[in-house]
Amino acid sequence: MQILQIGRLSNDVNAHLEREYGACALWQQTQIDEFLQQYGANFELVVTSAAYGLTAAHMAMLPNLRAVCSFGVGYDSIDVAALQQNSIVLSNTPDVLTDCVADLAMGLLIDVSRGISAGDRYARAGLWGSKQRMGMGTRVTGKKLGILGLGRIGLAIAERAQGFKMNIGYHNRKTVADVAHDYFDSVVALAQWADCLIVACPGGAATEHLVNAAVLQALGEHGLLINIARGSVVDEAALLAALEAGHIAGAALDVFEREPHIPSLLLQSEKVVLTPHIGSATRETRLDMDDLLLQNVAAFVQDGRLLTEVC
Ligand code: NAP
Repeated sequence: MQILQIGRLSNDVNAHLEREYGACALWQQTQIDEFLQQYGANFELVVTSAAYGLTAAHMAMLPNLRAVCSFGVGYDSIDVAALQQNSIVLSNTPDVLTDCVADLAMGLLIDVSRGISAGDRYARAGLWGSKQRMGMGTRVTGKKLGILGLGRIGLAIAERAQGFKMNIGYHNRKTVADVAHDYFDSVVALAQWADCLIVACPGGAATEHLVNAAVLQALGEHGLLINIARGSVVDEAALLAALEAGHIAGAALDVFEREPHIPSLLLQSEKVVLTPHIGSATRETRLDMDDLLLQNVAAFVQDGRLLTEVC
């Protein structure tokens, strides 16, 4: 089975795919469309990632494609409707990254509440002991935490937040069985109730700008927004306006609408904590993700099935 690898992954994965399957590295081609037009029909399996995705246009140049194995849990960058129309199966790497993403969400929540990054900047600038005092933080313990998307990562965040004696509410399209957390039937209602709102739902058209001006207004002037999901879920322009107007107190963001671009107003704001999409970026988790990706490839090559099939 001929494999096409869309983008560069870890050195180990790149080497394994080349050694075991003779995979073709698309990112090494200079004329990608011309290459796909000429050789696209050779490939039955694509290896990609949440970041590289797979467009419908490229898929159309792969007429014999049967499976896509993607590194990462989100697959909003892959045209699922086009996959389904062509009976192409897709796998991702769920579960193995859940803990690390939840850890980062809690880290961002604590940072934006307590000013860890702001304090670091203040100390490094030599301002400690000067007339310029650092502002007060906000308590985390015992606050009301709203989770938009109580799935694998959302539940892991809730588990951690219980250690901080937080009250937990959530919004999903459906209620989650066997959890005691309060369900809110809209994002606005959840934001109105919450002190801090963590976004943990998938990206894509169905959730685009789910966190809009009305949600931010509902979160309120002391409210904090944390996004570890996808930049597309939050209306970034509305967020900038809400921060400027003081409609919310602050935000901590691991993901952005046009990565790696971060709007300059966010870069300049003292009310925000910014990380460059590092939710799953620990050595241990990335190795586990590599393994699961390669296990999916091996399973499909050996007997035409995927271990963690999404659709
Ligand atoms: P998951 O288990 O599928 O959970 C997603 C949750 O979102 C579900 O509870 C789902 O509930 C809810 N949801 C889906 N569509 C919704 C909608 N339209 N409105 C409201 N709620 C909705 O996924 P996961 O493994 O927790 O991952 C969640 C997301 O985190 C991924 O898709 C990815 O984008 C992001 N992520 C980011 C990083 C990072 O590096 N920052 C790393 C990994 C993952 P219902 O189906 O009932 O609506």
